This record gives sequence, C-alpha cells and structure tokens, in this order.
Amino acid sequence: MADRDGVIWYNGELVPWRDAQTHVLTHTLHYGMGVFEGVRAYETDRGAAIFRLPEHTERLFNSAHILGMKIPYDRDTLNQAQRLAVRENKLASAYIRPMAFYGSEGMGLRADNLQVHVIVAAWHWGSYLGEDNMNRGIRVRVSSFTRHHVNVTMCRAKANGNYMNSMMALQEALRDGYDEAILLDAQGYVMEGSGENIFLVRDGQLHTPDLTSALDGITRKTVIALAEDMGLKVHEKRITRDEVYIADEAFFTGTAAEVTPIREVDGRVIGNGGRGPITEKLQSHYFDVVHGRDPGHRQWLDLV
Ligand code: PMP
Repeated sequence: MADRDGVIWYNGELVPWRDAQTHVLTHTLHYGMGVFEGVRAYETDRGAAIFRLPEHTERLFNSAHILGMKIPYDRDTLNQAQRLAVRENKLASAYIRPMAFYGSEGMGLRADNLQVHVIVAAWHWGSYLGEDNMNRGIRVRVSSFTRHHVNVTMCRAKANGNYMNSMMALQEALRDGYDEAILLDAQGYVMEGSGENIFLVRDGQLHTPDLTSALDGITRKTVIALAEDMGLKVHEKRITRDEVYIADEAFFTGTAAEVTPIREVDGRVIGNGGRGPITEKLQSHYFDVVHGRDPGHRQWLDLV
C-alpha cells in the first residue's frame, strides 16, 4: 500500500503518497487508540460522488468523542479533505480512509502530552467480498470469538483497537474455508460480521440485530430507509443463531461490503442457496442510489 503514486491528506496538507510516514513510536501503533472511517465514492453521471459524507464524518467525530480524543480540525475541513483525496488522486470511484491517531510525542497510557494527527487516503477498491459473491452469495461461519462486550470496548466508536477482534474472527473463518464470520455478542445473540451489519429476511420482512455491540452502520441505515421506500417492514431486535439458519434470505451490509448476500451459514443452506429475491431488489436499489441513478436520494451524494 505504501509504494504508490498519488497524494494523501496529512494534517492539512497533501503530501506525496510515499512520504506520508509516521514514526515507529507512534502511540496508536502501540495501544490501538485511534479512530477511523471507511467511506466510498462512486462514479455518477456528474462525476465521482462521496456517499453519505457528512454522516461518516459525524461518526468519526463521535468515535473520537467516545475515546476522549480531540480532532484538531472541524467537520467541513475533513469533508473537504475527503473530496480532495478523491479528486487529487483522479479517482472515478474510491474507498476513502480518514483516520485520527495519537503521534509519537510520548508513550505512557496517560496520553496527556500527545497530539492528534489526521490523515485521509483514497484509492480504488472493488467489491470487498468478491465480485462473483455479489450474485452468488458468501459462505459464513459463526465465530468462536465473541463480539465486544459493551463495557469492554466502546462499540459505537469505529476505533482502531476494536478491529483485533474482527480480524481474529475473519482469519478463523477464512482458515476454515469460509468467506466471512458472524460474531455473537457476550449473551450469545447474533451481532454482526467482522466488518458488516447483518440482516435476515423472513416472511417478506427484514430483521436486524438492535444496536448494542454492533457498529451503527451507515449502510444499515441506508438499507433500512430503502426497505421502507419499498414498503418492507424492518424489525430491529435480538436475533438467535438458529433464526439465521432458518431465514429465507440473509445478507451483510457495509460501506466496503455494500449489500452482500449470504448463501450458507455453518454448513446450512440459507433459503434458495443463492441471492434471494428481496436481497437482490435491495442490492440493486442500493447500487442505483450510490451511483446517482435514483432521483429520490441524490441528497446522499457529495460531488467531489
Ligand atoms: N460493523 C463493523 C464492525 C464495521 O467495521 C463496519 C464497517 N464500517 C460495519 C459494521 C458497517 O458499517 P458501515 O455501513 O457504516 O460501513
């Protein structure tokens, strides 16, 4: 990733990609206390547009607030930084990664002498869980790793350190030949994927876990709004593992994962064993919206 042409927005300046370096004593590298976002820009007929930019920036500030980090820029500056990162790298579509982290000004856990640094990088990133899987659906296992307890890590924050749990779950799933993991919460209820929220379809209605230890996903919110547009009822509730097994359809949502169908969980075929009809409708509606083909939701697009 480091050896590329292009620029990265780094503390208010656009610096050459290869020069966007930080010291090995960077505090966040040692303890994982940092916050970040994952944002996408899509090609539209009016040029590249960032999807739900203000909502992502707001979540970044909320994450920092939860961790007690003070981001030394305002929201407008970081919105502009994200537009610049796409524009200056001449990207027609992009994955955008803003991050705020503590620097190398000191090392103790007290963290009272540290500066918060901010970067925004952008690059081209295709389908996160594979292009073919967007039609075919993915195979998933329930992880042996439990999702964060709400009073251990702060689950409303998209915080760097939270992702150790995600990576262990994902690596376990991949090692066992699956594409992704479903994590259960500390009480044993279905919570989310390693980097996605989860939805089930049952009798023509959507079910998704209520937000306790799951990230408040922006794609989740989008899909709930699109489902309501389509007249589908959405229930936010506790979901058990066996409810997933007998769902008519299941899918993951996320900025990176977009709307990815799930075709199998723990060796049980879900529904028709492929992308279900409601998943397909929501997925295609989602792609119409992010690409600006749906006049109803243009307010979610920020031209770069
Ligand atoms: N849960 C986790 C743990 C995630 O990392 C993500 C990706 N940000 C999501 C859910 C989905 O969130 P969003 O739709 O905002 O990308």
